[in-house]
Amino acid sequence: MRGPMKQIRLVVLGAGGVGKSSLVSQFMRGVFNTLYEPTVEDCYRHFLHLPGGNMHSIEILDTGGTHQFPAMQELNIKTAHGFIIVYSIDDAESFQEAHKLRKLVVNVKGTENIPLVMVGNKSDLAVDREVQKDEAVTAAREEWRCPFLETSAKYNRNVYDIFLALLNSIEAYERDSNKQEGSEKRRSSASKTISALKKLLRSKKTSSSRDEVVYYKTAHGTIIVFSINDAEIFKEPSKLRKLVVNVKGTENIPMVMVGNKSDLAVDREVQKDEAVTAAREEWRCPFLETSAKYNRNVYDIFLALLNSIEAWENRDSNKQKMSEKRRSSASKTISTLKKLLRSKSTSNSSNDDVFK
Ligand code: GDP
Ligand code: MG
Repeated sequence: MRGPMKQIRLVVLGAGGVGKSSLVSQFMRGVFNTLYEPTVEDCYRHFLHLPGGNMHSIEILDTGGTHQFPAMQELNIKTAHGFIIVYSIDDAESFQEAHKLRKLVVNVKGTENIPLVMVGNKSDLAVDREVQKDEAVTAAREEWRCPFLETSAKYNRNVYDIFLALLNSIEAYERDSNKQEGSEKRRSSASKTISALKKLLRSKKTSSSRDEVVYYKTAHGTIIVFSINDAEIFKEPSKLRKLVVNVKGTENIPMVMVGNKSDLAVDREVQKDEAVTAAREEWRCPFLETSAKYNRNVYDIFLALLNSIEAWENRDSNKQKMSEKRRSSASKTISTLKKLLRSKSTSNSSNDDVFK
């Protein structure tokens, strides 16, 4: 039998385009989308089953920038337990909008004592910064009296921490208000919901990196991709390669380095020479520039990787005197895959020609 259901409702507010939907999507699904699709209003709900049959849920309301339905907005604010108010560090106007939204929340709630978190998103765009961190820290501490975090939805920086900070604030708030009401029973129920949510958060935060490690351990080959029009992203592959090398415990791993978006050569930030040199001298692996969009060199990535795996298998089996039978079975698999690739590659390069 099911016990009572407890619900925590969070609302994300901020000017259009600051990254509200991106933060929620990164948090809920671990996904970042570079396309901007204006939101009307999206609601995400996550259910938790607790021992003892209680069901709890966390509801996150991702709001649109437009206030076409003031009554709706007021109701959303009234019924929420906590607020995430987002601006973008590269947009001073969005910081002003954040202040207005906080005032609206204070007016609707009729108190300044509200669990909320101030978030400066797009911390990866520090070169275009218009809102100084100091300024935001001061406003959060002295005016808003709430936690402040700079985040990047794009690189998943500090995203879980927003939700953790907010849950901590709600917890403190509930503890205070129940103390005044003196209801021991209600306090313990609310704090159970929150501590279950906090546990969930912690597991989410660590589970993705655990998944990665498991994946690296069992993989036969790795393709590490950057995009040629983003020098910042070019730094990531080296980190990823180090992670793979650490998990595998050797530098001798079948791997291919890929510079994608070769069709965006006009916006090139990573020189081909630079990548070629890194691949040859540091990574010691093949390098290819590709365009997923125009299907340029895509099959070649997989062909290069299969060749590396083949070489690696042969070398390994010689060293460990692996049975002739197993070696031939592995090489059969690989040559079958290579045959498949070649047939795919030719059928698609004709498409490629159409695009040129
Ligand atoms: P919303 O209107 O507040 O929901 O904003 P969106 O989440 O739809 O994001 C607006 C645009 O900003 C999209 O093109 C996103 O890809 C981009 N964006 C969101 N977060 C970040 C971030 O942390 N860094 C960068 N560089 N871009 C971001
Ligand atoms: Mg949105």
